[in-house]
Amino acid sequence: IYGSTRRNSQGVNLNIDSQYQPLIDAMAQFMDKEHHVGPLLAFEVSDEPANRHEVRNPYDTRQLVGSVQWTTREQAEKAVDAAWAAFPRWEATPVEERALILERFAELMESHMAELMTLCSREGGKLLTDGVDEIREAVDFCRYYANRARELFGEATTLPGPTGESNQLMMGGKGVFATISPWNFPVAIFCGQMVAAAVSGNSVLAKPAEQTSLVAHRVVELLYEAGMPRDVVQLLPGDGPTVGSVLSSDPRITGVAFTGSTDTAQVINRALAAREGAALPALIAETGGLNAMIVDSTALPEQVVADVISSSFQSAGQRCSALRVLFLQDDVADRVIEILKGAMAELSVGDPRDLGTDVGPVIDDEARQNLQAHIDKLKGEGRLIGETVLDPAQTAHGTFIAPTAFEIDGIDALQSEQFGPILHIVRFKAAEIDRIIDTINAKQYGLTFGVHSRNESFADAIARKIRMGNVYVNRNIIGAVVGVQPFGGQGLSGTGPKAGGPHYLLRFATEKTLTINT
Ligand code: GLU
Repeated sequence: IYGSTRRNSQGVNLNIDSQYQPLIDAMAQFMDKEHHVGPLLAFEVSDEPANRHEVRNPYDTRQLVGSVQWTTREQAEKAVDAAWAAFPRWEATPVEERALILERFAELMESHMAELMTLCSREGGKLLTDGVDEIREAVDFCRYYANRARELFGEATTLPGPTGESNQLMMGGKGVFATISPWNFPVAIFCGQMVAAAVSGNSVLAKPAEQTSLVAHRVVELLYEAGMPRDVVQLLPGDGPTVGSVLSSDPRITGVAFTGSTDTAQVINRALAAREGAALPALIAETGGLNAMIVDSTALPEQVVADVISSSFQSAGQRCSALRVLFLQDDVADRVIEILKGAMAELSVGDPRDLGTDVGPVIDDEARQNLQAHIDKLKGEGRLIGETVLDPAQTAHGTFIAPTAFEIDGIDALQSEQFGPILHIVRFKAAEIDRIIDTINAKQYGLTFGVHSRNESFADAIARKIRMGNVYVNRNIIGAVVGVQPFGGQGLSGTGPKAGGPHYLLRFATEKTLTINT
């Protein structure tokens, strides 16, 4: 059942496939609907038109998709009250019941795939192929965590002890978790965090990214339909300064699962630590990366380019796992660059609903402006290698960035992640490899990493020395599959444990031993 997420190791634009046609037909009925939503809390919330925020389609910002009423500070505080009240009852609910809710929820997401994909596309600019992967990953998370929870939270484990003493280890929830999720995986990561916290016996306050609250709202409605009590999981759409700050400063929050920027993770960490009289919190953070790939002279240039194109430009480069820096050994550099240039010229940038599209819009105008500023800066400093030409008929009304690749002298000046379709290329000589690995490790970002080489001992030595969460050899570096490549980094890229891995639920749990002198 796991691994139903399609593997993306074959590059983009290979997905033109009749299997999508029924989905496309089913999506049509949801295309023009406007959605006006608000918080989903354990108590009634009245409509506040002044607190509503418009949602527009990043592909064509003239199109209104709907509006979201943001949660107020007072509502967020009251939601924490309700979550605390729900916790003991929920924790005492047998794990089998909790796991069955996740499995029913997974089935509902599968049967509502077209509707959820439509929202991912209209609200988040997702391509159809990315939308399918997104929903499948969410489903995988539910089934994987349901089964893992049965193993961890079922029977207590009997431990050894001297004659006349019985020892048991029991697992429980921690209390109330805040889950703060990103817009780039508005269903998969949003669900993964929320269901992991809930199935471990915690009540959950889920804060979706501001940009993708509509799909989060629909997902939580389906979760309620699957049987999740409304006080156990509540949805708090809103902004960081209002909702995020309540969720990271209230002393009753026992843990936070966060995916987003390293800077925001630091802010949350400081806010949690500053709470007077609060229990020590659990923080699971999955943050950014300066992900690199090393290509040596034995690599196959055509395969390298296919994997670079998907790693850097699929999902418009808006994945934490995306490739940002390609290191090419000088003997192969010219050949790889030549093929890459040609492949970039062929990319089609435009309408996410069109199966022929390789690259859709970036999430919003703020992202577009920041990425464009980085490109303009590199145009002054670096050497332009390739740039996809945009067709104004496709891109004039959306927040588009042309896939762009630059050659630069080294990565010293790259400080933070550029979350879009921008690739940096650095040439190296064979004798420099150790220094390059040290330089990459010294950046302290540790998320994804790739090696392309037919020299097994070279690839193996680098894979061992590099400090990264997910290392891929001779393939692309995106699209980690639940239960197959548990995902998450180290250092500035995150705290672990890895999402979709066997240890993830442990951070949401408490352990208690019971010793009886019999
Ligand atoms: N798990 C995704 C992948 O492997 C990336 C998740 C993210 O962008 O946060 O591509």
